[in-house]
Amino acid sequence: MTIHLLNCFTCNARWPSKLKTGMLCLLVETNQGLVLVDTGLGLDDYTNPAWMTQLFRIITVMPFNPNEAAVNRVKQLGYKPEDVKHIILTHMHFDHCSGLPDFPHAKVHVHRREYEAFTDNKILHWDEYAYIPRYIAHRPEFVLYDNANEKWYDFDAIRLPFEPGMYFIPLYGHSRGHCGVAIKTSDGWFFHAGDAGAVHNDETPAWMIKLVLGPYDPRLREFMKAHPEIKVVNSHMFPEFFSKGSN
Ligand SMILES: [Zn+2]
Repeated sequence: MTIHLLNCFTCNARWPSKLKTGMLCLLVETNQGLVLVDTGLGLDDYTNPAWMTQLFRIITVMPFNPNEAAVNRVKQLGYKPEDVKHIILTHMHFDHCSGLPDFPHAKVHVHRREYEAFTDNKILHWDEYAYIPRYIAHRPEFVLYDNANEKWYDFDAIRLPFEPGMYFIPLYGHSRGHCGVAIKTSDGWFFHAGDAGAVHNDETPAWMIKLVLGPYDPRLREFMKAHPEIKVVNSHMFPEFFSKGSN
């Protein structure tokens, strides 16, 4: 199936200033209609930024251009927002789900642990300050997953209801219920590891990656080496990556 690679939130580091990243969202053409993986920043954040967005406008450099919102990216590809029937979330930090209200009729697929971390009003780890309740104030229909009772290569896997094939891959640590998403394409597999790795970044020290992204980055790098035929990406990819457009 075709996977459109969308940059839905440019957020560049102030230091090191050469570290420039977009926010990778996928628009996947499945047999069940269009599926969006993560949303980036939503339109409302551009006119009425949540406190976390305001903080990131100070600590990072962002163009803050609403043309990057997933709903506008979808329109730029010639689709209507209501064509997006399903949204899969790797996790629910602000930059991954702020755009949910722009697709109010889409079903939202997320791991149960992540949904509970977002909704239980408890801060068990500092990353949970990045949960912004208003992004689900429109009460979307959630589809929750918990049993990883299959395998995808050597990873535990949860089958998602989209053909020709898609799995949630639990990669907890960056957040309580964070999952990667493996997608079957016409010529193999595409693996979006979300914020569990920085697999194309060889400049940031490993201890810092572990601190911010959790424990899976080394395993993801080993997996990439063992399986060069699989395209492995993470959420915050470099600007050049997005110029490719689709996979
Ligand atoms: Zn995150």
